Amino acid sequence: MKINKNYLDLNESYLFSSISKKIISHKESFPDKEIIRLGIGDVTRPLVPAVTNAMQNAVLEMGNAASFRGYGEEQGYSFLRKAICGYYEKKEVKLSEDEVFISDGAKSDLGNILDIFSVNNTVLIPDPVYPVYVDTNIMAGRKILFMKGNMDNRFLPMPEKNVKADIIYLCSPNNPTGAVYNRDQLKLWVDYALENEAVILFDSAYEGYIRDNELPASIYQIDGAKECAIEFCSFSKTAGFTGTRCGYTVLPHLLKRGGVELCKLWRRRQTTKFNGVPYIVQRGAEAAFSVNGLEQIKLNIDYYMENADIIAALLSELDVWFTGGKNAPYIWLKCPNGISSWDFFDLLLIKAGIAGTPGAGFGANGEGFFRLSAFGSREKITEAAERIKEMMPWR
Ligand code: PLP
Repeated sequence: MKINKNYLDLNESYLFSSISKKIISHKESFPDKEIIRLGIGDVTRPLVPAVTNAMQNAVLEMGNAASFRGYGEEQGYSFLRKAICGYYEKKEVKLSEDEVFISDGAKSDLGNILDIFSVNNTVLIPDPVYPVYVDTNIMAGRKILFMKGNMDNRFLPMPEKNVKADIIYLCSPNNPTGAVYNRDQLKLWVDYALENEAVILFDSAYEGYIRDNELPASIYQIDGAKECAIEFCSFSKTAGFTGTRCGYTVLPHLLKRGGVELCKLWRRRQTTKFNGVPYIVQRGAEAAFSVNGLEQIKLNIDYYMENADIIAALLSELDVWFTGGKNAPYIWLKCPNGISSWDFFDLLLIKAGIAGTPGAGFGANGEGFFRLSAFGSREKITEAAERIKEMMPWR
């Protein structure tokens, strides 16, 4: 019996445990000062009434012999896949229901999709990045190439002709940087993928935060993308489903490699290894796309984005370089005076009682940068902005 030794190559995930340890020790030293957490990537607004009402109705249906449901439809219920196709139609993207796969979230699908690819593929991953892309490929023992995000490219790395990769991860709007690719930039990625017969894994978990209509809210808004991209979406950050769990992945029929439709492999993988999402949750997710649901969800997103506006206005006033915060709930700032991201974490915690996330936790290129999230309450964000002003100059 041999274990999968690739797991031994994973970095320990120190980021959030180190943050918690520092916060606990700070609390012990300053018990009277409340710590404001601007580091969390979790939502704080509750599920909207359209969603909870639909879930309550579904619970009643499940308790009634006439409407009870057992095992669900393999790719997710048709009513939800239909609602998703309707949502895409508003983005001027036409999908058929059998191109949509319901899951318990984008993280699972982003990891599990690797089952349908050979381990001999080379993957291209941005740095800094959502750590799941890197770790899932290390587990499988795949060769990883990194593409550097930095101030010059505003943390939106672009394809390089001499770099050859088979699988490319793009995340837009981005976690952690909040940066968003525009149509021209995505077109260059699509062209690169088509030319190299690569597949783009497009993480669209934050598409609901895009306020600028010129920016693409799906990679399929770009010509040719259906032939080279898989799109991963989630109800987590848009509809507040981080604890409720639902997401969906789109694999268009046009996406083929070696003469095989990738959606066929994915369907086989999911029907063998995945149990599906509860009926009650899928009914809630469907309601998120109803007229009322969309309106109510928009109010929550607007709330977070007004928080982001407060942080962004403060950083602009203080002349701090940053990306994000306009079409994403994250703000990615350059640490002042060239200090390291962990030193800035300590400074902000000790001087202002604010906990953010050091950029170094998202990859080597995150060093010297810092992530603030807009998911807190208005009251806390306003107070945080005041505390930051008070601690000026940054020392
Ligand atoms: N993709 C990105 C970029 C994320 O930041 C997250 C969660 O933080 C996810 C995917 C995971 O989403 P889900 O909750 O649907 O698994």
